[in-house]
Parts: sequence; C-alpha cells; structure tokens
Amino acid sequence: MNAVVRRCVARAGIPCIWRGKCFSSGSGNEPAESNRVTPMLRHLMYKIKSTGPITVAEYMKEVLTNPAKGYYVHHDMLGEKGDFITSPEISQIFGELLGVWFVSEWIASGKSTAFQLVELGPGRGTLTADILRVFSQLGSVLKACDISIHLVEVSQRLSEIQALTLTEEKVPLERDAESLVYMKGITKSGIPISWYRDLKDVPKGYSFYLAHEFFDVLPVHKFQKTPHGWREVLVDVDPQASDKLRFVLAPCATPAEAFIQRDERREHVEVCPDAGVIIQELSQRIASTGGAALIADYGHNGTKTDTFRGFYGHQLHDVLIAPGTADLTADVDFSYLRRMAQEKVACLGPVEQRTFLKNMGIDVRLKVLLDKAGEPSMKQQLLRGYDMLMNPQKMGERFNFFALLPHQRLHGGSQERNARQSKTPSSSVAGFNELIWQ
Ligand code: SAH
Repeated sequence: MNAVVRRCVARAGIPCIWRGKCFSSGSGNEPAESNRVTPMLRHLMYKIKSTGPITVAEYMKEVLTNPAKGYYVHHDMLGEKGDFITSPEISQIFGELLGVWFVSEWIASGKSTAFQLVELGPGRGTLTADILRVFSQLGSVLKACDISIHLVEVSQRLSEIQALTLTEEKVPLERDAESLVYMKGITKSGIPISWYRDLKDVPKGYSFYLAHEFFDVLPVHKFQKTPHGWREVLVDVDPQASDKLRFVLAPCATPAEAFIQRDERREHVEVCPDAGVIIQELSQRIASTGGAALIADYGHNGTKTDTFRGFYGHQLHDVLIAPGTADLTADVDFSYLRRMAQEKVACLGPVEQRTFLKNMGIDVRLKVLLDKAGEPSMKQQLLRGYDMLMNPQKMGERFNFFALLPHQRLHGGSQERNARQSKTPSSSVAGFNELIWQ
C-alpha cells in the first residue's frame, strides 16, 4: 500500500455536518426563505389538490429527481458551500482505500481480462477520481486488464461536474440527451467513461459496482401502526395554511404495505421498494457474470423507525418546508437489502466504517501521507479528515459497508447457497477482514 499512491490531494475545509448525523424529522432548522413558495411546492400543491394526498415515496421522488425542478437535477449540493458533506469529499484516503478494495477483489476473483467499474450516484466524481488514481498507480498489476467506467446519474448538473473532474479536456465529450448513454468520454488516464440514468441500461459485463450515499436518497414509504392495522403516512395540503404541507395517515390500507414483514414489531417503519429493485438487479448481474458490489451508507439492520430527514446548508431541515431547496434522506435498512438479494449472491456486512477502513489499512496510509505532507496545515487537514471518517461519534459508527459477492468467491466454487453461511464474513474479503495481498 505504501507504494500505491504518492500524491496528497488537497480537499476543501470540512464543515461539521454529514447526512448520517441525526435522525429526527420535522423540527429542524429552516432556511431564511423557508416560507417561500418554491416552484416545487406549487407543483406539489397542484398535484395534491387535483388527485389527492401523495405517498412520502412519491414526495421524495418528485422533490429530489423531478426532471424539471428536482433538487438533485440542478443543484451542486456537496461540500462546504452545499448542504452536506460526504466521506470522499472529506479525505482522499477514503476513495483510495476503496480503489484498493476493488483491485484486491479483482485479484482474488481470478484477475479477469476486463472489468467495468460502475458507480451509482457519483456526486462530484471525487470517489471515482480517487479510485482511478489507485488504478493508475497499480498500472503494472492492472496493465493487461481492459477497464471501463460507467456512471449512473440522474442529475444533469452533477454529471457535468463529474465530467470536469474525470475526463480529459482535449477529447470532446459525446452527448446525446435522447440516448440511454447520454454522455461519453475518456478519463484523464485514458479509460472510456459513459453516463446513464438507470442501472439497467449499463452493459451486463463483469463489473464492480459502487454505491456510496446513494441508497439513502431512494424514496421510502412510511407506515404507522394503528388499532386498524398499518396505515401509510401521506403528504397533504394543510387546511389551516393553504401554502403549507402536512403529514396525514391514509384512511385505509395502501399497496406498499406488502413490503412490510409479517412479523414486524416496530410501530413505525420505512420501506424502500426502489432499493429492493436495484439490489435484485445487482444480485442477478453478479450471480451471472461475476464481480462484486460495495455499498456504503448510514443505516440499520431493521431496527430504526422514523429516519426521514432533510438537510439545508449543513443544518437539519423540515422535510415539508420549501421542497426542492433541501436534500431529503432516510437511513438504509441493510436487513432489507440482504432479503432482496434473495440468496442469489453472498452478502457481507454491514460493518462499521471505522472497522472497514481500519481493515483496509487507513492507519498506514495516513502515516504515509503525513510523512509526505510538507505544510502543517496539510497535516492538520489529513488528521481532521481521519477523525471525521473514523471517530465513533462522527462517521465511524454511523456509516456501514455492505458487499454482494458471488457465492463461489466465498465458498471456493461450492454450490453452497445457505444464507446463514453467507452472513459470516469470509477471512479472504478485504475490509470485512484485514487486507491481505494474495
Ligand atoms: N456518492 C456521492 C454522492 C452522494 S449524493 C458521494 O458520496 O459524494 C447522491 C447522488 O445520487 C447524487 O449524485 C445524485 O444526483 C444521485 N442520485 C440521486 N437519485 C438518483 C437516482 N434515482 N438514480 C441515479 N442517481 C441518483
């Protein structure tokens, strides 16, 4: 690892809030213009008045990814000037260690002659850039391997920023808004890179998939247990204030109730059918063509209740106020992801971020960078970044790593399909155990 990456990349200052931080909805800080009737609010009012209250999932989907007014579609929400900060934006070490994870998995699974790196929700492209730097540094190991990059991104604005971060300026980007591959180019290290809006449009080759803080933005349905059974939480216009929204309970059962476990004991649950669809697609692909998926997010194992929340300018934000101006998110239920994999693949984790990064050698990497960092301010920044990623009170315990791998990868080609076995971390998978170069 010491020889892997030599550059020390300056990152912006580290604001103090990350999205995994709090989990209460409703009573957050509100932006100065919080009472503003945003174009999204007008759109939702119109919709609700004409066809009735909408589910929280529909609300999230509209607010975040509506092609005309969605929060993700036109904002650059990441970093100091945005609404929240993520691990790759905090420290280069994060992406580098993930790059090492992919190379280690590529080696362990037999050094295929080609692979696709597919990132879901790549933000500013920082994570893929850090991973590609590792791939370049490990050029002698990967030289016979044909690599391509595939980014799944709904945001026009962010895809432009990703292209700026990742592609070679001298090679013009090919754009075709009507095509399933809406943009194509060549990375700074000469690798083909393509953009898609949907995972199912990515070619089905041998692939390594990455989703960092992606599953938490997928729409959730919320349910409350009542004396009459489960009732879905809906978003309605507030009769007391015609330019405000409020939560109500559906008067009768609604279809998404099918996603709640029969033996569910919680009083309030959030279910995310879109996450299930994506996990099924990933599992199917990995089972049939090989590769792996690494998913990192804040979440729980089917224990938490009300985690739906908003962020605006690094502050908690009321989810129903000024929709379209703030990020919306809900904790990922890893037990649900595991169920949706349906034993087609082995699932590892979730393990806490600090355990995963420690196993990947974060301490050694930090030391190398500290030794190389000339300026005291650079050293300080590296240490602050490390603290943010690893401190149990910060991101160290709230964020988790979860992986999908072909069964053969863990059980040496046996036909073992026992889900309980696949829950046991294999000694040979880096991050979930200590990294050992093979
Ligand atoms: N992974 C990045 C960014 C996380 S923010 C990081 O860790 O820094 C969530 C990302 O997912 C953004 O890039 C957003 O535009 C994208 N996104 C949100 N909903 C999406 C969807 N339904 N399909 C594809 N991308 C989506």
